[in-house]
Amino acid sequence: MRYWRKPLDSDRVRAARGEVRIIVERCKGCGFCIEYCPRDVLVESASFNRKGYHPPEVVKRGECVNCSLCEMICPDFAIFSVALTDGAPEPAPAPPLAPSALVSVGGWEETGPPSDGDVS
Ligand code: SF4
Ligand code: SF4
Repeated sequence: MRYWRKPLDSDRVRAARGEVRIIVERCKGCGFCIEYCPRDVLVESASFNRKGYHPPEVVKRGECVNCSLCEMICPDFAIFSVALTDGAPEPAPAPPLAPSALVSVGGWEETGPPSDGDVS
């Protein structure tokens, strides 16, 4: 699925980056990680593991966003991702909400809940 919208804060937010680790000998070649990776990072390799299956291999190394979907979906715990950090500063936090955007809930003021005399 491809999104057509560009997030309003895309100039301030950097996508996470990750690196995939594959435990080749655990893999049973089901292909779930390949099929469901949102960034098409993986393909079936031409090589065999000792069980005779084709494990995945990474073909788009820089595309992994460390979403861990491959890790969650693998029935044999044969793949996982680790976060990559490049030493760049963290993205700036979102600006605080303007006072006009704050909503009073239930009529409570900063002085606390209503007293017994206020309950109707
Ligand atoms: S962590 Fe996410 S983006 Fe990276 S290989 Fe796994 S499913 Fe794909
Ligand atoms: S989901 Fe796991 S067992 Fe299936 S192909 Fe990927 S690494 Fe191998």
